[in-house]
Amino acid sequence: MKKVAWIGLGRMGLPMATHLVDAGHSVTGYDLSEESLIKAEAVGIARAQTIKDAVAGADVVFTMLPQGADVLSVYKDPEGILAHATSSTLLVDSSTISIAACHELHSLAKESGFRFLDAPVSGGTVGAEGGTLAFMVGGDQEAFDDASPVIEPMAANIFHTGGPTTGQVAKICNNLILFINLSATAEGAVLAERLGLDKKKFFDIASVSSADSWPLRNWYPVPGVVETAASSRDFESPTFTARLARKDVSLAVEAAHDIGETLRLGEMVQGFYDQLIDDGLGEKDCSIISRLM
Ligand code: NAD
Repeated sequence: MKKVAWIGLGRMGLPMATHLVDAGHSVTGYDLSEESLIKAEAVGIARAQTIKDAVAGADVVFTMLPQGADVLSVYKDPEGILAHATSSTLLVDSSTISIAACHELHSLAKESGFRFLDAPVSGGTVGAEGGTLAFMVGGDQEAFDDASPVIEPMAANIFHTGGPTTGQVAKICNNLILFINLSATAEGAVLAERLGLDKKKFFDIASVSSADSWPLRNWYPVPGVVETAASSRDFESPTFTARLARKDVSLAVEAAHDIGETLRLGEMVQGFYDQLIDDGLGEKDCSIISRLM
């Protein structure tokens, strides 16, 4: 069993770290939020007052934080991970961050003599709670082999994507396709209804025809068709907020710009989410994009 430090015990981090406790690992957690730390203690995660305390003697350090800037700050801070972990510690970042920030983390870790993996996840809070996430892991084979048994209790699938940053590449390209698909589904679903076709009938056809997709079946954006979709509860209790969708699409747009390319569809979808956020709908479910169609 391993000694694990977990930085970032939010909607994803807390249930993920809980699976490691349940698997018998000794987990010490750190978060800026008192509420998160109280919840973590309740499931058997030891509470650290500082990052230095959290990483002391850890075999593996996971970070699960909102943005690349947050991850860079907990790594680079004089009181942070690189300053206080021992170089034998395996470092794993599971946050969704920019390719540029991910490159910087790999370089910083290497310069300081650490093994580092980018290991973002797909599956959302349901996957985090169920221990069924897909992990996309970029970095050296040997580090991947060491990390895999620790990741296992949190995952249904673990992919070694290749060298540094390839995990993030997989994640942001997957989510780019997801949100373009969701936008296309919203436009088609709204048009079908406006042209007089029964909305449930259109769903029954599209879900077994060439318009079928994961967001069509799970996040159908027109209310009253898929009972479990957020559209059927007025886009409340989001499984994925519009703000988070905007973040993920913009990471793809930014990565493309960094290699001198433009994502025509990605930028259009980013614009839809900008508008929803400007309209005060950022905390609603991302499928609220149908309101713009
Ligand atoms: P969250 O906001 O619920 O949790 C983030 C946690 O990090 C919070 O508890 C916050 O207090 C803590 N935090 C922020 N800065 C910190 C710092 N400097 N030091 C210590 N703690 C700090 O976010 P989340 O939904 O858990 O998402 C985390 C990451 O996972 C993001 O990168 C997100 O894009 C990615 N992700 C989220 C989902 C999802 O469905 N929510 C799915 C896949 C991936």
